[in-house]
Amino acid sequence: MAMQQNAPVADGPARPRPARVQVGGIATDRMTGPELAQQMVADWRRNVAAGRQLPARLVFDANGQAVSLYGRDAEFRAWMDQADLMHADGMSLVWASRLLTHAPLPERVATTDFFHDCAAAAEAAGLSFYMLGATREVNDAAVANVRAAYPNLRIAGHRDGYFAQSEEVGIIEEVVASGADVLWIARGRRFQEGFAIAHRHRLAGVTWIHPCGGLFDFLSGFVRRAPDWVQTIGMEWLYRTMQEPRRLFLRYFLTSPHAIYRMAVATRALPDDAPPSGRP
Ligand code: UDP
Repeated sequence: MAMQQNAPVADGPARPRPARVQVGGIATDRMTGPELAQQMVADWRRNVAAGRQLPARLVFDANGQAVSLYGRDAEFRAWMDQADLMHADGMSLVWASRLLTHAPLPERVATTDFFHDCAAAAEAAGLSFYMLGATREVNDAAVANVRAAYPNLRIAGHRDGYFAQSEEVGIIEEVVASGADVLWIARGRRFQEGFAIAHRHRLAGVTWIHPCGGLFDFLSGFVRRAPDWVQTIGMEWLYRTMQEPRRLFLRYFLTSPHAIYRMAVATRALPDDAPPSGRP
């Protein structure tokens, strides 16, 4: 995985201007995966210098499903608008930004790839992860594979993502007690963003909270990634649907046309002084 571990990170990476573009309504940062990983380290250094008192930053991702949800679900829209950083998990967002604005996204930052940028940067700089989500079997396998790939990365803690609402506060306390710097939450779209927003204020000391959907299914090796060429032509969603048609057919075939419509009508470059949500 391409990494820029030796690049200076103290002030964060230089960003292209304008720094964000609104795609399908969602304000998205114009940063590459390695730049965002450097930002993670820079945010962590700032947090450590501040005695770990800074609020945890919400780092969300957007794809076609998120664009569609954003257009029709006010609660999800309000959650997404609170993100401190947003990256494009789906290729369609990159295309929309290129076709419809003068501020194209530099690349797709698929969460499944971005995790590796972050893991390598965290291993080099000394940050730790907490991996929360998926079934116990998948979670254990994902953690074992990450430990094997990044032997010096500290996994401060991990657990599955199947628990009752009454257990949530106790689990968040476990995360805080573990001293983790980055909390990955793999519980599926919407559920995980709501969870991150609801508990953000309790996550003292944590630098980044990153909801990450089916990431652990891929890290565990239980689900295979699409071949590179399929990813390049923006068809990873179709490949996934063919692997799990029952679960994903309705999701993609209902949301994709709506997402395309939303991208056509709500994609524009954002001035640098735009509010965090990107909306006036
Ligand atoms: N999941 C979980 N707890 C739940 C529901 C789902 O941990 O209560 C996990 C599930 O095991 C899977 C992930 O959340 O690992 C959701 O994967 P999906 O492919 O739906 O994610 P997305 O497509 O949103 O990235």
